[in-house]
Amino acid sequence: MMAPDRTATPAGSGLPHVAPSAGTQEATPLAHSRLNADRAVPLQVAVLGSTGSIGQSTLEVIATSEGRFAVHLLCGHRSVGRLLEQAQAFRPRWLVVTDPEAAATIGSGVLPAGTELAVGPDRLAELVAAPEVDRVVSAIVGAAGLQSTWAAVAAGKTVALANKETLVMAGPLVMQLAARTGGAVVPVDSEHSAIHQALRSGRRDEVHRVILTASGGPFRTRSRESLAAVTREEALNHPTWSMGPKITIDSATMMNKALELIEARWLFDLPADQLGVVVHPQSIVHSLVEYVDGSVIAQLGPPDMKLPIQYALAYPERYAGPARRFDFTSRHQLEFEPPDLDRFPAVRLGHEAAARGGTAGAVLNAANEEAVQAFLDGRLQFPQIAILCERAMAEHPFEPEPTLDDILRLDAWARKEVRTWMC
Ligand code: NAD
Ligand code: MG
Repeated sequence: MMAPDRTATPAGSGLPHVAPSAGTQEATPLAHSRLNADRAVPLQVAVLGSTGSIGQSTLEVIATSEGRFAVHLLCGHRSVGRLLEQAQAFRPRWLVVTDPEAAATIGSGVLPAGTELAVGPDRLAELVAAPEVDRVVSAIVGAAGLQSTWAAVAAGKTVALANKETLVMAGPLVMQLAARTGGAVVPVDSEHSAIHQALRSGRRDEVHRVILTASGGPFRTRSRESLAAVTREEALNHPTWSMGPKITIDSATMMNKALELIEARWLFDLPADQLGVVVHPQSIVHSLVEYVDGSVIAQLGPPDMKLPIQYALAYPERYAGPARRFDFTSRHQLEFEPPDLDRFPAVRLGHEAAARGGTAGAVLNAANEEAVQAFLDGRLQFPQIAILCERAMAEHPFEPEPTLDDILRLDAWARKEVRTWMC
């Protein structure tokens, strides 16, 4: 089901060219053996998007890892104050600020000794590929995360991937690249972490289907009519997870589940008709794999991203970390219900994009990013987000086997069209 091999990057994409080489989807045995066998040598981690929600949880995991991990590189876009605090606490070799204007506000002499400043996304892409880097945590939000994730995979790194947009946009190309370079993509997204763990229970040909759980977001029980009036503040008030603003809005529209269906399609190489969604308001069961005999294997835990982050960093090993634990001494109820595709049409768009492949995911993602920003800025009503995404998917010049340049071109096309439609 994978698209043909097109990882050679045409000029102008801004993404590095990679020569073919043999490789596997597993992280290197050397790196793994270092995790436990030699604590004196911590794995060097590059944390991309360190000032965000996932980035800060990652630093908590590293700080409590008892020397398993150390920070080699921190990267943020604009939150210079927070970045400098993180640099003081973790003493990375590199501090990367992707926004040049924000970087220009950093005075001389404020960096800790031994830390150097680098500016811009191209420098970031160079630095994640350095031989000293053992793990890359990809936690930049949105399409902006593609370039550095691509560079890390191209350099054969093990990437703990939170930035689902990378796989939504360019899943087949990224996974083929990893297979060629020996790089590995280990999911941080809690649903995909659960699936990754549940898939270790059986053979791939024994899998009947994979079911992603969804909290249903803050509007799970709201009527369709009332959704037109929802405010930014209501949409940002997620019932179970504390996350950055973009993914929080995606959870409210359930576009997050759409993106996750596409992410699962490419990450696990599963056809779209083997992927399903169930609403589970408690966010305790993080996803399920149903095997052909009817056994359903799930992964459970309180909603705390530190667990999937630690799993991705330490895989294939486990250790006692800082994540909250499930309390079996108190009463819990776990509910499951089908998603309402009428009120949350985004889920249908995710299924469609996962089934179509090609440029459908990139266009859906770009349209969604533009529409979510407009909603956050008060320029768009909530239900319009999915409507604009559907229109972009329907009207775009579909390319079944795109190159990276095709993907980036259609990303730009979708953003421009959506901006025009909103005028
Ligand atoms: P966030 O908004 O809290 O943080 C985003 C980070 O990206 C910040 O460090 C910011 O400086 C950086 N950034 C923003 N624009 C950038 C740009 N143009 N170039 C470089 N860096 C930029 O977001 P988050 O909630 O931490 O989510 C990060 C990613 O992880 C998203 O792709 C999201 O879908 C995914 N994810 C998050 C969660 C969660 O619980 N927060 C769960 C699963 C997946
Ligand atoms: Mg998720």
